[in-house]
Amino acid sequence: MEIERHEYDVVVIGAGGAGLRAAIEARQQGKRTAIVCKSLFGKAHTVMAEGGAAAAMGNVNSDDNWMVHFRDTMRGGKFLNNWRMAELHAKEAPERVWELEAWGALFDRTKDGKISQRNFGGHEYPRLAHVGDRTGLELIRTLQQRVVALQQEDERLHGDPEAYLKVFAECTITRLLQDGDEPGAPITGAFGYWRETGRLICFDAPAVVLATGGIGKSFSVTSNSWEYTGDGHALALLAGAKLINMEFVQFHPTGMVWPPSVRGILVTESVRGDGGVLRNSDGVRFMFNYIPDVFKDKYATSEEEGDRWYTDQANNRRPPELLPRDEVARAINSEVKAGRGSPHGGVFLDVSSRLPAAEIVRRLPSMHHQFKELADVDITAEPMEVGPTCHYVMGGVEVDADTTQSSVPGLFAAGEVSGGMHGSNRLGGNSLSDLLVFGQRAGAGAAAYVDGLAARPVAGPEKLAEAEAEALAPLSRGGAENPYEVHQELQRTMHELVGIIRKAGEISEALEVVTKLKERAANTGAPGGRIYNPGWHLALDLRNMLLVSECVARAALLREESRGGHTRDDFPAMSADWRRKLLVCALAADGGITVEEQEQPSMRDDLLTLFERGELSKYLTADEMVEFDALVK
Ligand code: FAD
Repeated sequence: MEIERHEYDVVVIGAGGAGLRAAIEARQQGKRTAIVCKSLFGKAHTVMAEGGAAAAMGNVNSDDNWMVHFRDTMRGGKFLNNWRMAELHAKEAPERVWELEAWGALFDRTKDGKISQRNFGGHEYPRLAHVGDRTGLELIRTLQQRVVALQQEDERLHGDPEAYLKVFAECTITRLLQDGDEPGAPITGAFGYWRETGRLICFDAPAVVLATGGIGKSFSVTSNSWEYTGDGHALALLAGAKLINMEFVQFHPTGMVWPPSVRGILVTESVRGDGGVLRNSDGVRFMFNYIPDVFKDKYATSEEEGDRWYTDQANNRRPPELLPRDEVARAINSEVKAGRGSPHGGVFLDVSSRLPAAEIVRRLPSMHHQFKELADVDITAEPMEVGPTCHYVMGGVEVDADTTQSSVPGLFAAGEVSGGMHGSNRLGGNSLSDLLVFGQRAGAGAAAYVDGLAARPVAGPEKLAEAEAEALAPLSRGGAENPYEVHQELQRTMHELVGIIRKAGEISEALEVVTKLKERAANTGAPGGRIYNPGWHLALDLRNMLLVSECVARAALLREESRGGHTRDDFPAMSADWRRKLLVCALAADGGITVEEQEQPSMRDDLLTLFERGELSKYLTADEMVEFDALVK
């Protein structure tokens, strides 16, 4: 069968918030742009985002500004963030949200008609612009509407709506193409297949933006949907780019735990932001027992103060249910382990005794519907049962903060697939704003890269032949390993041995299993032909999940401390020795993963002095504090 071929300036892989925003920008800058997504157009993961987009607009509390948001983000990431990304994010998020409004997004409003903002864990002020608990849906709807508006403009200008912006939906990319054999050779395009027909497709383009989202499908309990197989992470590795921070995987504290068929589905943090409280089987609001020292002065120490905060934030500290996610997830895990869990192995999240029923339905319509439909629980009348679920990967492609370009010329990454912005732990709401800020920057970065090229890099014909052979291989391996069995074993291994609490022996065991699974995956067969064959699709996705899992496990084994989304039972404290160490994964010549330590660059002076000395001393090394003292003297 002939390979379908298309030529573009920029190919964006992924049609979630990051991909759409990148594509819009590239098209606005005059570049012929393709959007390729393996799911249906409009069914990206971003649609599932509930709580909102964090942006310091100061609509609800005028004390909020980019500097407070920057501080919260760095604090949440335990100072391991790429501070330049955190700075750009905090500064540009409001503009990106207002831009969405100008493109037609209908955010909830304050009484005086501004975009309303809600509280979320780790954010000092109400900061999440939202649309009920369906913010991601509105974000995608608006960006799609903008795509259509640009296509209508192109129809008027060029007589073809798809002249400058075309969507290729249900099309999976399996390889990036490059000019040369060396890892890190310039990008020349991307190769993949149509999911429905199995027909192969090649995009020739000097710039590719990865916007493929996360990796959750490598774990058995996850809030992530089927597309999250770490494709972009793996494509980047295979092209010679580096992945950073891969040991940091966020377990959201509140996923559904019952019934088994819905285990892991997210219960939005807005439930707690709007007053919901966590209790154990003794009825105790246990989060008061889990406030870590670094947060002691910022969180209420009594239920009365915590409750007062909802109506008077100026004079009270926030309740500990709103601690960053890693803290809450670990606390729930400890309660369950201590035998104080709910009947199905979680804890209770109660909003029914905190807000009137009508208010719960108004503020949390999706949660009300989700529990009624899936668990037959009426959240206006009874508590929910919740527990940690694999939710987000902080690690991803190492990029330049300003342009989002990776170390591979022509390869850009934005959104969950990129790494650095969130350090060791992401604050809720900071992803939707990240998608918008760095999606825009990726589109601009890719466009500028194309403009700067004297000539387009070209891949030799053998590259295409290799990509074709690799994609078709599982179809001819009849009677071999079953991809579903390999996938299940990988998920179980990652969940049980490299999950929320880790220790050296278990991680090493996981690495042995992953090595064996890699051999089995290379032998997975998917008989049944090319026409919509999910077994074939999974066999191809396994390569990606295994590469990414190996990165997570290797980096997790190396980092001998607990920080953010990485908790080591055998090294339970945050360690000054690891404070400035970033772990960077690369693909070795033998197909294995290497991990190297890299020192985090020193924070710019003007950013450092945004923090109080007392706070910095909780995180920074003694040497860094000496430098700080010299700076402020
Ligand atoms: P996505 O939106 O996942 O898009 C990825 C795209 O890549 C898809 O179109 C997919 O089809 C495509 N793709 C993947 N692989 C390939 C391939 N090989 N070839 C072609 N296409 C491919 N964050 C917040 O800030 N606020 C919230 O309130 C919030 N709530 C959340 C609720 C839930 C239930 C979940 C799961 C997450 C939530 N998050 C939230 C996190 C946030 O939604 C995600 O991090 C974010 O949407 C990721 O966006 P993205 O653009 O990077 O990727």
